[in-house]
Amino acid sequence: MTTPMMRQYEEAKQACGDAMLLFRMGDFYELFAEDAKQAAKVLGLTLTSRDKDSANPTAMAGFPYHQLDAYLRKLISAGFRAAVCEQVEDPKEAKGLVRREVTRVVSAGTLTDDQLLDPREANYLVAVYKPPAESKRKAAAGAPEVVGIAWAELSSGRFEAGLFPAERLEDELARIGPAEVLIREDDVRTSLDSTANWSVTNRPAWTFAFDESMQLLCRQFGVRSLEGFGFNDEHRPAIQAAGAVFAYLSETQSGGLDHFDTLIAHHNSPSVQIDAATRRSLEITRTLRSGSRTGSLLDVIDQTLTPMGARQLGAWIAAPLIDIEAIERRFDAVAEFRESEALRENIRSTLKGVYDLARLLGRIATGRTNPRDLQYVGKTLAMLPPLKAKLTGRKSGLLQTLEQNLHLCPELRSRLEAALADDCPMSTKDGGFIREGFDPDLDALRELAKGGKRWIATYQAEQMEQTGIQNLKVGFNKVFGYYLEVSNAHRDKVPETFIRKQTLKNAERFITPELKEYEEKVLAADDQAQIRELNLFDQLRADVHQHLQILQVVSAAIADLDVLASLAELAAKRNYVRPKLTDEPVMDVEEGRHPVLDATLPQGEFVPNDIKSSPEDGMVLLITGPNMAGKSTYIRQVALLTLMAQVGSFVPAKCATIGIADRIFARVGASDELSRGQSTFMVEMVETARILNTATPRSLVILDEIGRGTSTYDGLSLAWAITEHLHDQIGCRTLFATHYHELTQLSDMLPGVENLNVSVREWGDKVVFLHRIVRGGADKSYGIHVARLAGVPQSVNERAKDVLAQLESDHRDAFDRPTIAPPDGRKSGSAMQMTLFGYVDHPLVDELRNLQIDAMTPIDALQMLQQWQQKI
Ligand code: ADP
Repeated sequence: MTTPMMRQYEEAKQACGDAMLLFRMGDFYELFAEDAKQAAKVLGLTLTSRDKDSANPTAMAGFPYHQLDAYLRKLISAGFRAAVCEQVEDPKEAKGLVRREVTRVVSAGTLTDDQLLDPREANYLVAVYKPPAESKRKAAAGAPEVVGIAWAELSSGRFEAGLFPAERLEDELARIGPAEVLIREDDVRTSLDSTANWSVTNRPAWTFAFDESMQLLCRQFGVRSLEGFGFNDEHRPAIQAAGAVFAYLSETQSGGLDHFDTLIAHHNSPSVQIDAATRRSLEITRTLRSGSRTGSLLDVIDQTLTPMGARQLGAWIAAPLIDIEAIERRFDAVAEFRESEALRENIRSTLKGVYDLARLLGRIATGRTNPRDLQYVGKTLAMLPPLKAKLTGRKSGLLQTLEQNLHLCPELRSRLEAALADDCPMSTKDGGFIREGFDPDLDALRELAKGGKRWIATYQAEQMEQTGIQNLKVGFNKVFGYYLEVSNAHRDKVPETFIRKQTLKNAERFITPELKEYEEKVLAADDQAQIRELNLFDQLRADVHQHLQILQVVSAAIADLDVLASLAELAAKRNYVRPKLTDEPVMDVEEGRHPVLDATLPQGEFVPNDIKSSPEDGMVLLITGPNMAGKSTYIRQVALLTLMAQVGSFVPAKCATIGIADRIFARVGASDELSRGQSTFMVEMVETARILNTATPRSLVILDEIGRGTSTYDGLSLAWAITEHLHDQIGCRTLFATHYHELTQLSDMLPGVENLNVSVREWGDKVVFLHRIVRGGADKSYGIHVARLAGVPQSVNERAKDVLAQLESDHRDAFDRPTIAPPDGRKSGSAMQMTLFGYVDHPLVDELRNLQIDAMTPIDALQMLQQWQQKI
């Protein structure tokens, strides 16, 4: 490995750390050594070796340059980072070795290429900075631990940061949904969810340093401090995280980053706190089962038409608002679009012509743009006048602001339209993207080249006639330029003036002085035309670049407009209403529907239900009823309606009054957590503990079957105590779905507890779920009927009914354990003890049972008691 080129390779490899190095060699990208071995596996490339004859041949694998995107995609999705090392000078002009440089490092969080990104999802690079425990002093003083989090999207320039309580780290990451997380290499205290599907990159400590971060960011934004953005001394960790993000971007991108022109202070726009488990349980952006977007709340409510809108809706739904005024502003806009179908249709059909301006601008800023990108900017600009016209004179303040933000940029638009050919290619390589008639110089050069080509065609005809060689033809290749080709059959007719250049199997190739003369003219004109065209392209790109900031404002306005029109479309299509919002902890919904089931069940099959919760109507609603009756659906519906309302969406109901929730908690079944490697019950209790410790009187809590992970008595007692705590200590709106009928007694003792149940109708031996929620506790278990519906054998069902009847006839022993007679026909003489759900007696209970109290003195009894106490 000692050739100068391999030394060049080694240098580049050292500089790019643990990234795979894709080293450009002519028309190929090559990988060497370990990289080659891994790439061969991941990309399915053939492994060869470089200096085969040496004692230590170097492994090597490669692929043609034009397949770079496809291979990058595979590498990134397999979790690798890749450094692309390009030839940065023309090999023809290079003296000696061609200069090469790593022009970019691509990782999951720094993608910009359209083919590598999902247009409907943001792709965030996140940094997490946890300040060292400086401060034992502070900690001792009870100051909570904090963490700075910053997130940026290279493809669009969105950049935010905020300071959070350390225990919310996982929840915030769940909200942001990062592609890649940067963390200080010496940070051993931050533990990230290892099952999440983001990649983690360790970064040097200095990239998180405060002074460096501040300097870097201030320089980028052209400001002297970040106070104008809403960051002060108290937000230092957030700034450090932002600095780390930006340092990483600067280091991995050789192109510009000037689409990053502001840092949004997340703490200035407070939103509903939703923890990671609640997000999963409510299936807000992904479903529990498959983890995909399809079937999630976001999926069914998304009617957006542009990628920018789709991403913005994702951001809105991930962070519902708590400020009533801000929500009402969104409602006003949605209402205006909802009322006028013509207006909505008009706006929406125009939005269909809009391209992903945010990401187009990202590519322009990072210097990775192509002619078609510029054309799409022009086409998007062409949609602005009709959009703006339709927004003029709207009542909604938000729509008025959006109207103002749609800057038309008419000169830029007409320049792009005039300059770019209708059918613009993706690449500049073959030219042809500048429209004829736009630039006189370019037209002249093209004419010259064309003229030359016409001359050559005539020359071919003349030569054919003069020589009598019927199949004489003019060809072109890079080595000889233009040549005349004569097949072997006509070789003897070739005149002496032809100069032989190449002999093929069946033909020979010749040149003539005239041909060469014109060739020069053609090639020179072609070359110059190409240079001129590239020049014009650069000017156009620079033009768009100059409009970067204003176009970013336009892009944000289009995104919001699309989301608002989408929410209105949804409201119209599915018959949603505008909820009344209040700061009171109440909920009064008539004929509410579950947004996802309502959209997926056949029309009219979903049974609507009322929801009433308030200090008067009961703050804690206990919903009992058989399995499959619709309890979970009902309580999730309550949480989803609240969440949708706070996003600014109308809700599926006849009418609704919704009190703003500051936090939403959902603990729904624990089975899905099993794959996350913790015991079901432990997870359930950890989550429940969090709710009990952090819910406020303004929160909304929904609990589904809490306590199921343990034995019946344990579970019941816990559920009982949890309900009491929520009622007495917190007093927040709570919906608790449970199969513990015993809990219904709580309503007699606690004034704020109300019982609801799901009504069920029996037809003879069958049971029909009406999915209707009514007041009162359920008094019967229909589990056996459900088992029959599910196909449990008839004999088992018969036996179960038998056992149930005996249980209900209340044959209970001293420990309230039912004694069950054996099934008919079974010979066994004694009755069996039934241990419900694997409940096992404590050995002391057996001892106690076998005790002959008659034969004991009081002293014996006391001693016995003492022994027992020592045993437990
Ligand atoms: P539970 O929690 O009581 O076991 P679920 O809420 O999981 O029951 O509901 C079981 C099934 O019943 C759901 O998958 C859904 O198909 C149907 N269902 C529930 N509620 C309704 C409703 N209001 N209208 C129509 N179908 C419903």
